[in-house]
Amino acid sequence: MPSLYDITPFSLLDYPNEMSCIVWVAGCNMRCVYCHNPNIVFGKGEKEDDEVIAFLEKRIGKLSAVVFSGGEATLYAGLPALMRRVKAMGFKIKLDTNGSRPEVLRGLLAEGLVDYVAMDFKCPPEKTGALIGTSKLWEPFMQSLALLIEAASLIHTAVIPAKAGIQPVGSKLHSSEARCVTRAAQEKSLMPRGRAALDPAFQRDDDKGERFSNTPTHPLTFEIRTTVHPDWLDEKDLAWMIAFLDEAGYRGTYYIQNVASTGDKTIGNVAKPERALDLALIPSPKGFSLAYRNF
Ligand code: SF4
Repeated sequence: MPSLYDITPFSLLDYPNEMSCIVWVAGCNMRCVYCHNPNIVFGKGEKEDDEVIAFLEKRIGKLSAVVFSGGEATLYAGLPALMRRVKAMGFKIKLDTNGSRPEVLRGLLAEGLVDYVAMDFKCPPEKTGALIGTSKLWEPFMQSLALLIEAASLIHTAVIPAKAGIQPVGSKLHSSEARCVTRAAQEKSLMPRGRAALDPAFQRDDDKGERFSNTPTHPLTFEIRTTVHPDWLDEKDLAWMIAFLDEAGYRGTYYIQNVASTGDKTIGNVAKPERALDLALIPSPKGFSLAYRNF
């Protein structure tokens, strides 16, 4: 059972424009080769919720926000209850997530517990096995993306990339292609739009519209980000991912982050990149902006 690993008492970097602390959750359901937090991923958390609350009680008026990170924070069964307590103290909450637990995310959004979500977009589906250690979390990621797009009210006609429009990198087509819908097909038919197109778990409440239970009403900021180790993820992969986000209707800023080369031990024992990403080969998105970190 993942639990609380540690608290970083102060950060100006992890929550834009807020003075935050970071609560690290032990445990993760991915094994990203470049991950430099194996101590958290494989570690056992020993902190209790009450320790976090006691820490925050002394920081009222000094900190404005709490970042839940990890590991994968949504694996912690006590996360919603802890967030409720933190929220009741007046702190803003940011969640860092790999997007693998849409069922948890849905509940957090519905309760208005998170103000900011930073979600990782790891790689195209055919690279997930090699890069993150599992190929089973692509569908949950798409569901999470759909939830966030809808919650942020950034778009109402999100679709997943159509087979005719975007081909996955490499020869292997991913399983979701069987369910791909085109924008034209949606417009002509009664095919579900918006969240339903990305999220197979989505159910309409009735036949008249797209209302669904647990509609989030809390204002939400979210960002999509990708950590790039150029030996593992190349410019073609990123071009596909940008096109995917465009088609999905993402309208925020997409952050491409150079892998940290601190010399720390990584989960996959990967070496420092042997080459640099050629930023000139990264295409511009149509509907959102691109930003680079750590380049
Ligand atoms: S980088 Fe990957 S393995 Fe490491 S904590 Fe994040 S999702 Fe888990």
